[in-house]
Amino acid sequence: MSAIAKPTISRREFIGATCAACAAAAGYRAWAEPAAPRPGAPSHEALFYETLADKSVRCGICPRHCVVPDGQRGYCRVRENRGGRYSTLAYGQCCTANMDPIEKKPFFHVYPGSKAFSIATVGCNIHCKFCQNWDISQASPETTPVPYRSPAEIAEAAHAAGAKAIAYTYSEPTVFYEYMADCARAGRERGLESIVVSNGFIAEAPQKALFPLVKAIKIDLKAFTQSFYGDVCDGLLEPVLASLKRLADSGVWFEIVCLTIPTLNDGQDETRRMADWIVKELGPNVPVHFSRYHPMYRLKNLPPTPPETILKARSIAMEAGCHFAYTGNVPGLEGQDTLCPSCKKPVVRRYGNQIVENTLKAGACGACGTRIPGIWG
Ligand code: SF4
Repeated sequence: MSAIAKPTISRREFIGATCAACAAAAGYRAWAEPAAPRPGAPSHEALFYETLADKSVRCGICPRHCVVPDGQRGYCRVRENRGGRYSTLAYGQCCTANMDPIEKKPFFHVYPGSKAFSIATVGCNIHCKFCQNWDISQASPETTPVPYRSPAEIAEAAHAAGAKAIAYTYSEPTVFYEYMADCARAGRERGLESIVVSNGFIAEAPQKALFPLVKAIKIDLKAFTQSFYGDVCDGLLEPVLASLKRLADSGVWFEIVCLTIPTLNDGQDETRRMADWIVKELGPNVPVHFSRYHPMYRLKNLPPTPPETILKARSIAMEAGCHFAYTGNVPGLEGQDTLCPSCKKPVVRRYGNQIVENTLKAGACGACGTRIPGIWG
């Protein structure tokens, strides 16, 4: 546990401008009115916590299991102990909303070519030095003057925009768990699926309670060493591996992303051990995306990952038995098409986040009829 850290710099204007710029760049605006706090937004009680004798609380959402004294917050900054009642400050505080190609999450075996209404609140339960969305993941609710958005409003906006699914993404959805779960329920009433983009750092009980609410989950497996998780992410490897095994047992579709960073997690031996573990513990059909790092946030002293490194990681994974290994973050690079594991013909061809050709027939290879695992339509 740690009390809320006082922000070293004010990010209020920065985040407001960033969110507006993101929406403008996407040519999409979810709501017409400007961001302004809405008075009377409900204080929402957190799930999965226990109150201890001295009115401190123990949070059960993620493996950090913060013990939080009265009046203080957990590590993620968005859960606060108010007299022994634990509250989520993230509920309804949607700070960004964009329509994204589902391939951008990335999901390559889920509704190809569809759009996901992608939302986030501030907060995260780890602290990656290379975070691409640090401006919201490492922010506090005070720094983001966003209006309250009920789950019904999120579902309505997603439906009106023509989305196939609501995506919980950009920051870490585990820390806005209650809001995510209620948005998933509201979305379902509108005929929308829910998909989750997560670091996999979630405790067993909330994870299992989430499974029936969502269609697919993407997990960042950031490395295969505890030293990387500890030094670069302030996190833990073993709980992420445990949550991946529970996912494999759950029947919920999932894909894995490995951001490959020069000198830190790009060793071929590490990649081989990771791929062997994935095939043995999760099976050969889970898609694995090896993605290119770009200098960002507090990790700017390394060059972007050479494409050859990404290609090599992919080939190591395929040698280990992964049926669906991909390259990512390098548009046009080999390794972004889905190939039939039987006849090796492409069944979905891509360029970046765009679908170039889809020859699947009812989820099977159009050439040889082999069923391709995924959620295709
Ligand atoms: S979600 Fe995790 S980081 Fe946040 S308060 Fe709970 S245990 Fe701590």
